[in-house]
Amino acid sequence: MRMLLRTEFPNGPFGDPSLYIWQIDAPRALLFDAGDLSRFTTRQLLKVDHLFISHCHIDHFFGFDLFLRLHIGSEKNITVFGPPSTSEHVAGKLRGYTWNLIHDQNLSFDVIDLDHLNQSRLTTRFHAKAGFEATDSRQESWNPSDPIFDNGLYRIRSALLDHRTPCLAYSIEERPSVRVLKSVIDDLGLQAGPWLEVLKTAYLSGMAEETVLQIPRRNGETWVIEANQLATQVLEPRQRHKLAYATDGAASRPNRESLLQLVESADLFFCETCFLNDDSDLARRTQHFTATFVAELARDARVKRLAPFHFSKRYLKRPEVILKELSTRFPGEILPLVQEPRQLRL
Ligand SMILES: [Zn+2]
Ligand SMILES: [Zn+2]
Repeated sequence: MRMLLRTEFPNGPFGDPSLYIWQIDAPRALLFDAGDLSRFTTRQLLKVDHLFISHCHIDHFFGFDLFLRLHIGSEKNITVFGPPSTSEHVAGKLRGYTWNLIHDQNLSFDVIDLDHLNQSRLTTRFHAKAGFEATDSRQESWNPSDPIFDNGLYRIRSALLDHRTPCLAYSIEERPSVRVLKSVIDDLGLQAGPWLEVLKTAYLSGMAEETVLQIPRRNGETWVIEANQLATQVLEPRQRHKLAYATDGAASRPNRESLLQLVESADLFFCETCFLNDDSDLARRTQHFTATFVAELARDARVKRLAPFHFSKRYLKRPEVILKELSTRFPGEILPLVQEPRQLRL
């Protein structure tokens, strides 16, 4: 079964990370981290209306300038999610430029600082009309286990990692959906109509037992039936896919616990894998994962495919050692990422 969402990770295992997620025929896309954006096209980046930042270390955030540059002149509201203080970092970027000629423009950023520890979130608006000064700050309580994004087709959750600074990992999960078996409808002599939407909605919302349908037959009669009875015959549940993205964090037990639930049964897990286990001292000092930590996490969370990235440059000439260490503990498929040519022309 094909996934609703497609992914692109063009910077390879050593480049500064950015994961692009898009859906066929949809005018919008999602971007996870703003590292090196030069391997995306302008057209791709202009589709992004939700940006999910793991943390604001320079290798994950320096691409925001380019992202901002491309969007000047476009009429969009872009939502940026990140850990506490993300709005200050966005404000810092915006304050780095002179904005005296853009007050007639309709570009804005809503930056949402997610505070898992205090169960609150802060939304700050930066609008071109206000010279990108922070306005409309709003703090509210928030349950960190709730999705941070839900468009009816898929929803996104976050988890907190410790990287000696708060850092967020994200999961993207398709919502349950069903396929209508048209041949069965024909075999039953039923006429398609609005009742199919009622049936699908009742089934997906768990209300099928309480819903009674009046369905026109092709012979002119009306069939009265419980949605529950019909759903099992004419609806086929689609497989739900799940993606996850995690970078950066210490190879610690609390981070493992935090990620286990988030990435549980992911079909594809993009995960920072900076060091070999032999270099655990370095991993500890720089608060990064090791291949052994990632492989055991992915194995125990029953991840199907693992896409490791953010390798330390010390393995530049031998990236296969990371893949090898992963494969000794992770039984699923390991997807080696490839660095694509640069695309972007300003
Ligand atoms: Zn970092
Ligand atoms: Zn990093």
